[in-house]
Amino acid sequence: MKANCWTGRNSVEVQDVPDPSILNSRDATVKITSTAICGSDLHLLDGYVPTMQKGDVMGHEFMGEVVEVGPGVDGDRLRVGDRVVVPFPIACGGCASCRAELYSCCENTNPNAGISEKFFGHPTAGIYGYSHLTGGFAGGQAEYARAVFADVNALKIESDLTDEQVLFLSDILPTGYMGADMCDIQEGDVVAVWGAGPVGQFAMDSARVLGADKVIAIDKETYRLDMAAAQGYITINFEDVDVRSALLDLTGGRGPDKCIDAVGMEATHGATHVHLYDRAKQAVRAETDRPHALRQAILSCRSGGVVSVIGVYGGLVDKFPAGAWMNRSLTLRTGQCHVQKYMKPLLGMIEQGKIDPTRVITHRLPLTDAPRGYELFKNKQDRCEKVVLKP
Ligand code: NAD
Ligand code: ZN
Ligand code: ZN
Repeated sequence: MKANCWTGRNSVEVQDVPDPSILNSRDATVKITSTAICGSDLHLLDGYVPTMQKGDVMGHEFMGEVVEVGPGVDGDRLRVGDRVVVPFPIACGGCASCRAELYSCCENTNPNAGISEKFFGHPTAGIYGYSHLTGGFAGGQAEYARAVFADVNALKIESDLTDEQVLFLSDILPTGYMGADMCDIQEGDVVAVWGAGPVGQFAMDSARVLGADKVIAIDKETYRLDMAAAQGYITINFEDVDVRSALLDLTGGRGPDKCIDAVGMEATHGATHVHLYDRAKQAVRAETDRPHALRQAILSCRSGGVVSVIGVYGGLVDKFPAGAWMNRSLTLRTGQCHVQKYMKPLLGMIEQGKIDPTRVITHRLPLTDAPRGYELFKNKQDRCEKVVLKP
């Protein structure tokens, strides 16, 4: 089959790779109908995740049709012919983390738990197409993928919603929603969101759905800020103004009640980002002239407010303002999204028309054009916001 593979720093290529097969009794094989490129894929593309190997199949946002199931798959939950969206973290459904709905921290699905532990202190769940640190599972930017613990994870789509309406239930819609959910939004709250990429846009939509009074978008890409403005959100271009002062001006000098970081490592391009597990055993350190989104969020948030971090971090970040966090009673919440917790309620909201996930799609390309999709998305060319690939 054809699959989009990582071939080195800043390079992906569509290659012929072996078809996936059922390896464990609760696996299913999915014939992919739609898949997408995520901001998290850019962290892999950048080459700052040292556990990528040449030839690894990329992609953790995918959906399609079940074409084969293992003998252990519960037939009441999943059968051949079902149309499914596959969440990016692989959950077993039975461990203590899964029972607490912390699916991305599943304790049973990462065969490389030892590597994960070296990075993060404890192992994290397996993730598709996300390097060997999260299990080395082949990703979904391909014609077929192996879905693991398929009957626990895959969400069946039984209505006639289009692929584009449900595809993002695999990741970015639940992620944006979790970013807002972790804010515990109260009446009258002002919520500021760093990053107007697809994840940030969904965090903004979710903040509004959850009752935020005002939503503020911060980015430097004017076309992305325009997309946010079109939804009625206030925008701040961090290249034009001092973000903290602008936020204080908008909030009577107090700062936003809730701040969401939907940027992650991109803000530093790995520059102030230090890997615990660095192959050369040397910390990667460099200066950056770009403002650091997380630091800005902590320093801007009102005292007693919540800083919710859904942007992805891999190692250590310099200059974390622990003093502001501690002295001003801030709450910090974060996580790789526990997608399985949010998929069904969000499917309901899509059906009711409360959230329209298709609004972020700007590019639809055949899978064979994946490298061009990465280029457009990474370099923000052609007003690119979100690329959907069709195998
Ligand atoms: P994206 O790259 O399209 O968007 C990031 C945006 O942040 C860009 O528009 C960029 O211009 C902006 N930005 C950069 N520096 C900034 C700064 N200092 N202040 C404000 N904005 C800044 O990516 P995306 O797909 O929207 O993903 C965003 C983040 O969410 C990534 O880190 C991604 O890895 C992460 N993510 C996390 C999860 C999760 O489960 N927690 C899931 C999906 C994606
Ligand atoms: Zn993603
Ligand atoms: Zn589990």
